[in-house]
Amino acid sequence: ELSPQSNYGSSNILVAVRCRPFSTKELQTNNQSIIRVLDANSLIVLTGGSKIRRNKPETFIFDYVFNETASQKEIFEKSTLTLIDGVLNGFNSTIFAYGATGTGKTYTMIGDGNSAGIIPAAFTDLFTKIEANQRERTYSVRMSYLEIYNESLKDLIYPSNIVLDIREDPIKGIIVSNLTEYMATNIQEVMECLNLGNQRRTVESNEVNVVSSRSHAILQIIIESRDKASGIESELTIGKLSMVDLAGSERNIMTNNKGIRLIEGSNINKSLLALGNCINALSERNERGGRIFIPYRDSKLTRLLKDSLGGNCKTVMIACISPYFECCLDTLNTLKYARRAK
Ligand code: ADP
Ligand code: MG
Repeated sequence: ELSPQSNYGSSNILVAVRCRPFSTKELQTNNQSIIRVLDANSLIVLTGGSKIRRNKPETFIFDYVFNETASQKEIFEKSTLTLIDGVLNGFNSTIFAYGATGTGKTYTMIGDGNSAGIIPAAFTDLFTKIEANQRERTYSVRMSYLEIYNESLKDLIYPSNIVLDIREDPIKGIIVSNLTEYMATNIQEVMECLNLGNQRRTVESNEVNVVSSRSHAILQIIIESRDKASGIESELTIGKLSMVDLAGSERNIMTNNKGIRLIEGSNINKSLLALGNCINALSERNERGGRIFIPYRDSKLTRLLKDSLGGNCKTVMIACISPYFECCLDTLNTLKYARRAK
């Protein structure tokens, strides 16, 4: 079997699709899945529902395709586990959950009481590896948690009215002024921080009548370490892992939002569009080489992640989809967005 690392190919960008199971409510109406997972890398979307024009079923190919039975553990091991060593060795990496509201982004990133998602699993692995290495190196682990809502930043660990600014430091890379950095030492503290932060996230009900996340939530872990034997003079290694629960990608035209909501909607699309454009440009640069311009400055999200996308950073996109026929358009839009990333 191929190791997860090898699924990156030469591109440093890994794209996975995860289809969630039906909800209890969906099962009561129509439990015919529109998704056929063909194998570990491909799926087709059956678009024969009553509301949707009949198209030829389209095949999509990704680095990984996970069906509704995939466990949280499997998702973590195939998408994120291989990044952790890199981060400990001073490389930056980013993991995104992309998809419409209700497709499992937050479940994938955070999980629920019964099964830990990527963020707690990453911390658990980090703390284990740090402990195993503590004779040789001293470590500090800092976490920050912020949201981008309407193109403005909000600290989710310690909210205040102080304006958060994105700056570029020649040594530290991208930094956010006035953002709380929490010294994390164990998983319980991290989860407490995360749960409190999530309660502070900006959510709105739209006319689809689900609580949709209108903001991008970005959790960053910064790990600094030094070799103990060479003392204070030794080189400082800094790695950063960014884990992003993106705002719902559903088109606002579907939710009939008006006025201020429409402005929010277009900003969300602006960030998602900018992210897609940056990732697309990065994979093109990788393929063709040369000086392809990466439009980081087009949104707050891409400015914030400028030092964590591209170069020798690894990027993982997990595109979340629903098997439900009414979500067909969102599903197709998500798959097309994810396909552009490769
Ligand atoms: P999103 O963050 O994309 O809006 P959520 O993560 O909140 O979506 O998921 C919507 C609902 O579906 C939640 O109740 C969640 O627990 C459930 N869910 C999502 N993915 C899965 C999964 N793979 N297995 C079980 N339940 C899931
Ligand atoms: Mg969510």
